[in-house]
Amino acid sequence: MRIVFIGPPGAGKGTQAERLVARYELAHLSTGDMLRAARDAKTEVGKKADQYMSKGELVPDEIIVEIIAERLGEPDCRMGYLLDGFPRTIAQAEALDRMLAERNTPLDVVLELRVPEEELFRRLAGRGRADDKPEVIRQRLVAYRQQTEPLLEYYGKAGLLKSVDGLGSVDEIFDRIKAVLDPFAG
Ligand code: ADP
Repeated sequence: MRIVFIGPPGAGKGTQAERLVARYELAHLSTGDMLRAARDAKTEVGKKADQYMSKGELVPDEIIVEIIAERLGEPDCRMGYLLDGFPRTIAQAEALDRMLAERNTPLDVVLELRVPEEELFRRLAGRGRADDKPEVIRQRLVAYRQQTEPLLEYYGKAGLLKSVDGLGSVDEIFDRIKAVLDPFAG
């Protein structure tokens, strides 16, 4: 199974992603985790990315597309993967489409985790990561609304989008996700 997981910051994607990759035995490709690891290791890419991450802005498409193109070529991706945090812009989605067309490995489903904005702000404010300062949170929500939300229409038109309500307990939400994904599991 090849899945794209979309949702605003604070939607609970990370928590659900962990369960999801365990249940369906998928490689977990989290661009946020990859960029934070690069930043902490102080690589060139990491230092460049941090200039954007610390402000709540998206890192430039070229950087992230390069990282993903390399990662998709690794052997563990052959069994299937969950893309978590990528694509986040239409240009990234188009780049992904080209990569997948070349490999002849189309996406199976794009899963959206939906949470109202007031709830997101409440959750993020209580979390305390370095990029969880109020002004940075606000900027991340703006980036989501302006740059990532257009993907819902993009994938809706492609017939790939499935949306799940992200309010409720972790178990309730995971039950909804299973109901959507089980039919795709071989
Ligand atoms: P969130 O908790 O906001 O969902 P992530 O952990 O996925 O955030 O990513 C943290 C930061 O890493 C983002 O705010 C952004 O700066 C950067 N980032 C992650 N994925 C991408 C991407 N696909 N394109 C551009 N920037 C990204």
